[in-house]
Amino acid sequence: MEVTFLGTGTSHGIPVIGCDCPVCTSADPHNNRMRSSLLIRHRGLTWVIDTGQEFRLQAIRAGLQQLDAVFYTHDHADHMFGIDDLRIFSCRRSLPVYGAQETLLQIRKRFAYIFASTIPGGGVPSLELIPIDEHGLSIGGLQIQPVPIYHGTRLINGYRFGPMAYLTDCSGIPESSLPLLEGLDMLVVGALREREHPTHFSIGQAVDMIQRIAPVQGYLTHMCHEIDHESLSGRLPPNIAPAYDGLCVNLTLEE
Ligand SMILES: [Zn+2]
Ligand SMILES: [Zn+2]
Ligand SMILES: [Zn+2]
Repeated sequence: MEVTFLGTGTSHGIPVIGCDCPVCTSADPHNNRMRSSLLIRHRGLTWVIDTGQEFRLQAIRAGLQQLDAVFYTHDHADHMFGIDDLRIFSCRRSLPVYGAQETLLQIRKRFAYIFASTIPGGGVPSLELIPIDEHGLSIGGLQIQPVPIYHGTRLINGYRFGPMAYLTDCSGIPESSLPLLEGLDMLVVGALREREHPTHFSIGQAVDMIQRIAPVQGYLTHMCHEIDHESLSGRLPPNIAPAYDGLCVNLTLEE
């Protein structure tokens, strides 16, 4: 299984428009962060988690030729406003789109034109919205499991794909979700900044949670412009690293 970070930035993206802070003006490419999204390749299948505003650019950069399904974590703009660019992947057949019932409802509402089928000649993505519940699903021999997490007071979906779990926009993990995160090789957790925030983990909170869950390797994502990649890398525990756009991780699966 191959996991690629398409984007690792918070909702503004980094650099932030009009900002001249040291991170936004940094020459280190690790400090350029598009909106958070993850690409997973497994046995000839390709999936993405979330499609933010830069999805087209991210897909081109990753050389994406094929897409077999999209998994949405929640309905915030930075996670789904690239949805129209799924058009190219749904020309011949409709593209399966998985998410919690409420997330799919919001997609239908906000992107009503996609489902109205009144546009002559197409020009809209063809999406098959499929609710994913606590049983998850099995594709290509891999168990894919939604993991309920807190994003402020609301519950959204993280996802576990076999040995890897992705929990972006996370400010807490219900006790009932912890058993879903046992025995991970790789765990990605959102960490906005050093200071605490009502709807996102801080760096310290994310690190504590990763250490509690104890995966082999932890990564931080969804970071804001207060975080400089290199200085953060230097002060994290040895098995935790800040992710960056384009980072690719190979995971060996037990047969
Ligand atoms: Zn977000
Ligand atoms: Zn800045
Ligand atoms: Zn969010």
